[in-house]
Amino acid sequence: MMKKGIAASKGYAIGKVFVKTDNEVKITEKKIDDIVAEKERLNVAIEASRTQLKAIKEKAEKEIGADKASVFESHIMLLDDPEFTGAMETGIATDSINSEKAVSDVIDTYAAIFEAMEDAYMKERGADVKDVGKRILDNLSGNADGGMDSIEKNTVIVSHDLTPSDTAQLDKSKVIGFLTNIGGRTSHSAIMARTLEIPAVVGLNSITDSVKNGDLIIVDGTEGIAIINPDQATVKEYSEKKKKFEEEKEELKKLIDHKTVTKAGKRVEVCGNIGKAKDVETVIANGGDGVGLFRTEFLYMDRDSMPTEDEQFEAYKHVTEKMGDKTVVIRTLDIGGDKKLTYLPLPEEMNPFLGFRAIRLCLGRKDIFKVQLRALLRASSYGNLKIMFPMISSLGEFLEAKEILKECMGELKAEGKSYNENLETGIMVEIPAAAIMADELAKYVDFFSIGTNDLIQYTLAADRMNEQVSYLYNPMHPAVLRLIKMTIEAAHKEGKWCGMCGEMAGDEKFIPTLVEYGLDEFSMSASSILNAKKYIMKN
Ligand code: PEP
Ligand code: MG
Repeated sequence: MMKKGIAASKGYAIGKVFVKTDNEVKITEKKIDDIVAEKERLNVAIEASRTQLKAIKEKAEKEIGADKASVFESHIMLLDDPEFTGAMETGIATDSINSEKAVSDVIDTYAAIFEAMEDAYMKERGADVKDVGKRILDNLSGNADGGMDSIEKNTVIVSHDLTPSDTAQLDKSKVIGFLTNIGGRTSHSAIMARTLEIPAVVGLNSITDSVKNGDLIIVDGTEGIAIINPDQATVKEYSEKKKKFEEEKEELKKLIDHKTVTKAGKRVEVCGNIGKAKDVETVIANGGDGVGLFRTEFLYMDRDSMPTEDEQFEAYKHVTEKMGDKTVVIRTLDIGGDKKLTYLPLPEEMNPFLGFRAIRLCLGRKDIFKVQLRALLRASSYGNLKIMFPMISSLGEFLEAKEILKECMGELKAEGKSYNENLETGIMVEIPAAAIMADELAKYVDFFSIGTNDLIQYTLAADRMNEQVSYLYNPMHPAVLRLIKMTIEAAHKEGKWCGMCGEMAGDEKFIPTLVEYGLDEFSMSASSILNAKKYIMKN
């Protein structure tokens, strides 16, 4: 059976399905006759949860340090709490209900108590309770490894959705592709897949209902197709496609040291987008002219507290030093939208992409913002670091951000810490208002970088995450093109440079238009750099 979705990350994979269970577990209440047996069933699931958590804790201690692994210790402590597990047994005994219902009732009660607390730390414990509860429920359903702990080599992950942090954690030595029901080409899990060079198809609607663990499956991330239990001939056809794809990739490697010059003789920079400091290696390996976008929010994910100034400084310094004199554009924290932090609970929003995110959050939480700005400034002494502010909609926001930056500079100076006093600061043009006002903004900034992932969704009112409106999400819509052209021209008029770090920049279909408009810098997933160089040189 073949299913068509949205091509999210190029390439081919042929492997075995692993269905990652959805976070939403449906609980149905059932009446139980044998109370003793039901309690035993519950205890087996609790015991299995404890064993798994101990193993995860040990692994985490080795890989990310005892400090960050302590979250699993608190999960184990919950399981050890007789009041907590006792309440589940009582539920079974007094109401003759199944374990699933008893567990979910207790979890709801405990989570609600924590979440109602004033103290931010205690509030967050609600998430721990839910996490532990989910683990017990998974064990009750015999589906304990929704958590992907036990996947084997040559696995294709199939799930309703993958969060950006799920994707960032995929083990490339085992996971060779992934398929999801929902999502668009510019959802962050798709972007991560391209960074990791894992073929992926998203927006497949109900792929999770069409497969089971162990099914053979083909992922065609180039065309956006999944083929379930293919016949021999199809497997052969795709093995050949895969081989050809890999040969072409090899061929492109010849361009690694090439300077990219358009037909008209204009030198352009082709840079890489990164999410973690270590991704800089792939940018270098793919011949990137610099880092055009460091999505720093990934430093804040997969942990249970904010990264400190020193931790951030080390990450920014690493990237900056590695790139030598090449440009490194580091974007300040862009949390919100599809990127959330478990330890920074924010009110639920009706429209997260239009909500309290990115620069809005940073200007509202100066305490968080200043830690990052100080780390960035300190790292600026080590190379060609530039700071970029996301989601700017007006000059006022940019000036306010600059004011806070100045405050940090003053502090560092007083502390005798060095930074680059001439460091460039720019903005992402990803809100239509910024593109429309680009002529004004260009007078104040050092550079623009057009964030088409958001610019397109806001201009066309088409959610970048929603596969049902993906047909409207069109980078070549004349309205989008006008905004891009206006932004580039406005920058040039003021003698500033203009880049693009949205996914459009790395897509060969759009490169001729962007070259024609005079874009100075193209930044993309590292895996697209060489192909983009080839197409820019053709135009
Ligand atoms: C963009 O919006 O185009 C962009 C590069 O930022 P992000 O994808 O992280 O929102
Ligand atoms: Mg954006």
